[in-house]
Amino acid sequence: MGKEATKTIQTRLHVASGERSWLHDARLTSREIFNETIHLKQQGYTRTEIQNEVDHDDFLRNNKCAVVGKALQTWDSYQSLKNWWENQDDPDGGKPTPPSTDKTGAYPLVMAHTEGYRLTVDDDTNRVRFRISPKPYKKVKGHLRGEPDAMNELRDAITSDEVDVGQAELLYRNGVYYLHVTVTREFDVPEPDTADTLVGVDINERNVALTALDRETLRTKGTLVLDYGRVKQERQRYHTITKRCQEHGKTSIHQTLGDTEERFTEGVLHRLSRAVVEFAKQFSNPVIVFEDMEGIRDEIKYGSYLNRRLHKLPFHTFETFVSYKATWREIPTDTVDAYYNSKTCSCCCERGYRQGGRFRCTNDECDVVQDHADRNASVNIAWREKAKLDGNTMDYRTHKTQPQVRLVRLSGPGRVNRPTSSRSLAEQGVLAHG
Ligand SMILES: [Zn+2]
Repeated sequence: MGKEATKTIQTRLHVASGERSWLHDARLTSREIFNETIHLKQQGYTRTEIQNEVDHDDFLRNNKCAVVGKALQTWDSYQSLKNWWENQDDPDGGKPTPPSTDKTGAYPLVMAHTEGYRLTVDDDTNRVRFRISPKPYKKVKGHLRGEPDAMNELRDAITSDEVDVGQAELLYRNGVYYLHVTVTREFDVPEPDTADTLVGVDINERNVALTALDRETLRTKGTLVLDYGRVKQERQRYHTITKRCQEHGKTSIHQTLGDTEERFTEGVLHRLSRAVVEFAKQFSNPVIVFEDMEGIRDEIKYGSYLNRRLHKLPFHTFETFVSYKATWREIPTDTVDAYYNSKTCSCCCERGYRQGGRFRCTNDECDVVQDHADRNASVNIAWREKAKLDGNTMDYRTHKTQPQVRLVRLSGPGRVNRPTSSRSLAEQGVLAHG
């Protein structure tokens, strides 16, 4: 099945000509455009109306439309979060707040390829050259730097007809300008039905549990639990600082931390989703299987947790991240019912219960008695996929013993700005399975 996927390549600017202050100014103007866009959207303006209404002389019209587009995406995700929140049976505190329109400081400059920016590969040096137009008639030029793999991917994208170079975002952190370039191409993703390995993914407030089940032999090929408990603690810390700053009216610090927290969450989701795909791709013909999100909303285990804004890791964003990373590897994804996956014994299919980190089976005849609670749910998801693909209504289980659970802890601080590469994930043992 032909499927398009977009991916972001992260690079750093090496400026050779033009003023760095033009880049800075353009990012400040982007913030004004963001604020104006949200403000107008709240008053019911359409995208076209906003694009006409927002006016900045010293800014490319094309860039303006791109920044408006990014601001509207933020608005849309706020809207869908708010709709979700309002549909909860018993929403506790933490109603989503609309994007703020009075922030100061910079916002990413968003540009379309060949309009606001252009990339070329230098035949002699093999460098990727850039030309950025932060203002009308002003150009900043130089070349891009990045990880060798990422740069090769980018060169391919620029020179190949099969890959589209799309929008880029100009960011700035600790004295360095970054250009995040999106590239899109079409992939040949097999149908889930052709899979030989079923990889069940269970996500909850503590970790992401993965189990790979062989569709033919019904053997568990591996289990991995990615624990992000420390990340949660780190978010809690941000929250505490944020609150203190609010109490003292230090809004500027609050805003800085708010952005850090946002980046932080996104970084964590990227690392987790990359690890899921890396885990899956070591097996033959895998399909990555999630619980249906509609069902997850009804499951009590997520309820109180999800409703707390701070601790909430946006699960649908996580699933989206996994799906597009999987597409890039030509790995299909699928969903199964979330019906009692966390309360069903993965061996005998009877109901059981969770006791701390363990799952306990109540069936006297069952050999399992207890298992790692989160792995248990991920095994159920994989089994459910088998039943779905093979058209089995009988949900029987045969295996009695499960391999040891491999646990990897993700820690928060220090990794925020530098996402872990696939290679280092492998070195840390994320790819190993017990
Ligand atoms: Zn059992």
